Amino acid sequence: MIELFKIGFLSVTVSDIIDISIVAFLFYKLYTTLRATVAAQIFAGLLVILFISFIAQLIHLRAVSWLLKLITDVWVLAFVILFQPEIRRILVLLARNPIIKSIFRVEVKMPTDIIVDSAFELSQHQHGALIVLIKSSGIRGYAETGEIINAKLTKSLLTSIFFPRSPLHDGAVVIKNDIIEAARVTLPLSQITKWNDETLGMRHRAGLGISEQADVLSIIVSEETGSISIAENGILEKGFSKQSLKERINQSINYNQIQNWKNVFDIFKKK
Ligand code: ATP
Ligand code: MG
Repeated sequence: MIELFKIGFLSVTVSDIIDISIVAFLFYKLYTTLRATVAAQIFAGLLVILFISFIAQLIHLRAVSWLLKLITDVWVLAFVILFQPEIRRILVLLARNPIIKSIFRVEVKMPTDIIVDSAFELSQHQHGALIVLIKSSGIRGYAETGEIINAKLTKSLLTSIFFPRSPLHDGAVVIKNDIIEAARVTLPLSQITKWNDETLGMRHRAGLGISEQADVLSIIVSEETGSISIAENGILEKGFSKQSLKERINQSINYNQIQNWKNVFDIFKKK
C-alpha cells in the first residue's frame, strides 16, 4: 500500500485512511440511531464494564477480572439479546437505503412504464387525460393553478385522477421524475387551433401550449377517440402505439437517477 506520511514510527497508508473513515462513519451512524434510546444507556453500561475489566487486569485484581471475564465472555450474546430491537432497526434502515433498495429490487417500475401503462388504460376506457412530464426546470407557476399533490407516481393513482367522476380529473397532471406534483392544473392554450386540417380541442391546445412555453413533454389522451398524442417544443405528434410511446418518452426524457440505478442493476444481472 502507498504510504502517505509518517507520524513518528507510525506510517499511514491510503487503506488506513479508508479504514478509519468507515469505522468513524459506522460509529457516527450507530450514535445517531441509538442516541436518546434505552439502548444508549445499556451501551454506556457495557462500556463501563469493559473499562473496569481493563483496569482490573492492569492492576492484577484477579477475582474481579475473573468475575468480569465471565461477563465479557458472553458479551456478544448479551449484546445481541439486549439490542435485538435496535439491531433489527438498523438492518431495516440499511435495507431501506435507496442505493441498496435499487440494487436488490428487481422489478423497479420505471416512470416511463407507469406513464405508458396508465395512458393506455385511460385510452381504452376513453377517459380523457393530459399529462405534463417535466424535463428540466419545473413549471411551478402553472402547477400552482391546480392542486399540489406531491405523491409517488403509481398507475392506480394516475388513472384514478383522470376517472371522469374524480374531482381532480379536469385539467392537467404535472409529473416530475416519479412524483405527481399537481393535478387539475390549468395550462396556457396554444394559439394554434388546427393541426393538419384537424380542429384542435381545448385539451390538445393546452398540451401544445405548455410545450411551447416550457421544457416539457405533454401526453394527451383523447376522450373522443382514445388516441394518444405527444406535444413537445410546440410540435404535436399523433397516434402513438404502446411501444412507440415508450420509445418516444425515453428519447426525450432521461429519468436519470432512477435509470442509472437500474443500469447498475443490469450490470449485476449480466455477470
Ligand atoms: P378530446 O379529444 O379529449 O375531446 P379536445 O382536445 O377535443 O380533447 P376538449 O374536448 O375541449 O379537448 O376537452 C376539454 C377538456 O380539456 C376539459 O375538460 C379540461 O379537462 C381540458 N382542458 C381544457 N382547457 C384546459 C387548459 N387550459 N388547461 C388544462 N386542461 C384543459
Ligand atoms: Mg373534444
